[in-house]
Amino acid sequence: MTVNLLGMDQEALAAYCAGLGEKPFRARQLLRWIHQVGVDDFGAMTDMSKALRERLAREAVITAPAVLHDTTAPDGTRKWLLDVGTGNAIDTVFIPETSRGTLCVSSQAGCALECSFCSTGRQGFNRNLTVAEIIGQLWWANRSLGRGVTEDRPISNVVMMGMGEPLANFDNVVTAMRIMLDDHAYGLSRRRVTLSTAGLVPGIDRLRDECPVSLAVSLHAPNDALRDELVPINRKYPIKELLAACLRYVEVAPRGYVMLEYVMLAGVNDSVAQARELAALVRDVPCKVNLIPFNPFPGIQYQRSSPEAIDRFRDVLAHAGLIATVRKTRGDDIDAACGQLAGQVQDRTRRSARRQHEELAQ
Ligand code: SAH
Repeated sequence: MTVNLLGMDQEALAAYCAGLGEKPFRARQLLRWIHQVGVDDFGAMTDMSKALRERLAREAVITAPAVLHDTTAPDGTRKWLLDVGTGNAIDTVFIPETSRGTLCVSSQAGCALECSFCSTGRQGFNRNLTVAEIIGQLWWANRSLGRGVTEDRPISNVVMMGMGEPLANFDNVVTAMRIMLDDHAYGLSRRRVTLSTAGLVPGIDRLRDECPVSLAVSLHAPNDALRDELVPINRKYPIKELLAACLRYVEVAPRGYVMLEYVMLAGVNDSVAQARELAALVRDVPCKVNLIPFNPFPGIQYQRSSPEAIDRFRDVLAHAGLIATVRKTRGDDIDAACGQLAGQVQDRTRRSARRQHEELAQ
């Protein structure tokens, strides 16, 4: 059976090399060739013996998901649609800025959490992505952006904010992030790798122990009644437990705070009273609040808050001593903005059928 070396971290590669009777340093060589130089051909690995290269070529591959579409928005945001088989495809988005380049990476084909304002949530869920499919997004983007990781890097930051709930695919996401952090691979610092979660409390605690990268939490509401509606996983892990987990995480957080994400939905969660409620709620949590103007998609009932409502909300938070920023909307004209990633998902939860049914019944 051929194995895909793209999805192996240093530890797994060392074990694989040991199985071939090779020394552990081969694992580091392989990481550098695969991730820093970006090769998928063992023949190119000129610091290895011909016999080893031939053996690898017989027994292993370096394969990332194939690209179905590659679209660039007028603002420079670029989106790839990657084929992950059996009719499923996932989105990866590159967001260039003057001082950094951010890659937004998907962790699942679809999502099972059903947040009411998220396009991925509406698609239903198919499956977890493998490590190769997760790290393959970074591998591919680096190659297509035309530079290796050792030179002037096009990708300086990675955010696990694409399709899916990363903590629901914990092991594969953590292994992929270990490859991102490994100096022999992408060498990104923990500050520059951010995982965003809808609030899977046990996953936050595991992440704290196993791979403490920067953490973003999708809060979106200042109380349980509203959050139950917008982010249904709140019924299982209510706000109090979630913020307690954030406090535990802050002890190890690379920047010493947690980023709280808050989507701005007109007339739903954007009033001055709600801003005050939010400020009181998170008063004791070292955090920054990132307000995300809602990005619409077909068939959704929500609307984006007005710029005035967003500014007012931010001012109330700032007045209460919180650091609050407004996320710039990028790539919305190619459906690459937050919450617009729909990919292609063969729903196995029958959610889309159920939704159509409900809509017809209305
Ligand atoms: N499942 C994880 C990772 C997704 S990150 C999480 O929930 O955090 C994507 C971010 O965009 C989340 O904060 C999500 O709540 C937000 N989002 C989802 N739909 C959106 C929309 N339509 N407009 C703006 N932001 C949205």
